[in-house]
Amino acid sequence: TEPQYCIGCGAQIQTTDPKQPGYTPAAALKQDTDETELYCQRCFRLRHYNEISDVKLTDDDFLKLLTQIGDADALIVNVVDIFDFSGSLIPGLHRFVGDNPVLLVGNKVDVLPTSVKRSKVKQWLRQQAHQAGLRPVDVCLTSAKSGYALDELLAAIDHYRDGKDVYVVGVTNVGKSTLINKIIKQANGTQDLITTSRFPGTTLDQIQIPLADGQQLIDTPGIIHREQMAYYLGPKDLKLVTPQKPIKPKTFQLNAEQTLFLAGLARFDYVSGPRRSFTVYLDNNLLVHRTKLANATDFYARQAGKLLQPPRAKELADFPELVRFQFTSKQKSDLVFAGLGWITVPAGAVICGWAPKGVAVSTRPALI
Ligand code: GDP
Repeated sequence: TEPQYCIGCGAQIQTTDPKQPGYTPAAALKQDTDETELYCQRCFRLRHYNEISDVKLTDDDFLKLLTQIGDADALIVNVVDIFDFSGSLIPGLHRFVGDNPVLLVGNKVDVLPTSVKRSKVKQWLRQQAHQAGLRPVDVCLTSAKSGYALDELLAAIDHYRDGKDVYVVGVTNVGKSTLINKIIKQANGTQDLITTSRFPGTTLDQIQIPLADGQQLIDTPGIIHREQMAYYLGPKDLKLVTPQKPIKPKTFQLNAEQTLFLAGLARFDYVSGPRRSFTVYLDNNLLVHRTKLANATDFYARQAGKLLQPPRAKELADFPELVRFQFTSKQKSDLVFAGLGWITVPAGAVICGWAPKGVAVSTRPALI
């Protein structure tokens, strides 16, 4: 039979892989008698339910996408997860944006404890962006889930786009789809929603949302990133690890040579310094287990996948080993485990953070 193409995004229709562009359930294909009006599941959902599902991109597609963004005259809205800045970075984005302005959007602000100052989070995001070579024109904080500061975000987009198109980019799991769905509901209603592609027949499965002045807001596919904790966990564990509710900080009085395990996902050693307090910011349901530094490695070998989970026992074989990073805190600092949370440590402490190989551990001046 002839290949068929989605009239929404131009992707070739396929019935085998829901994560790939052009996916349509086989049952839906059979029902569709009018072959000229075929939508893939993603475009169908978008049209009928205002619901966007992400598809995976190959490295090749990704490069095309970045090149296209570089060639465009547009505002780039880069959505990042404030719990996983390093895992949210799009490799090479700063080289491709060219002269286009970038608006940095820090999402998931709803899970921050209220004690964390929003202005400090913005400042930190801006610094991190600069380190990565990005110079955003502005930083917005939002919660796609709760709708927090959505109006401000829309106003900022409208201001900085200055009559141009808008590209929304982000790696998977930062909440880009949730955010776009909120934007659509807020800004457009359903009637005029159309999906088109500038590259019919390619897998650049883009969704274009018309803006008031005839320009487009373009939702680009999510990009998978190997430095995300998300990359190493199954969907169920990912739900466990990603905080959904405001974090309740947990404080521990530690002596030197004590260790905290953050489930089986990360480890914190207090190497040297006087007895002090350390505060853990982590999903409320994850176990924090204290033990002696001297026994910690043995303890992990025995208890990972058991007392210390996630990861589950059956996933242990595929879970990367924990890798150690040592720091000395010059000032009160946060030790950040990308995608998981952070531990606030007092000044003058020698500490180690351990994370699965490939996942970043870093420090920043304390947010609180
Ligand atoms: P995408 O891959 O970037 O499109 O991300 P999704 O929109 O699919 O969201 C990824 C995960 O993050 C889902 O579990 C969402 O429920 C969650 N999520 C998205 N936005 C927010 C938010 O603002 N706050 C919180 N707490 N979770 C969010």
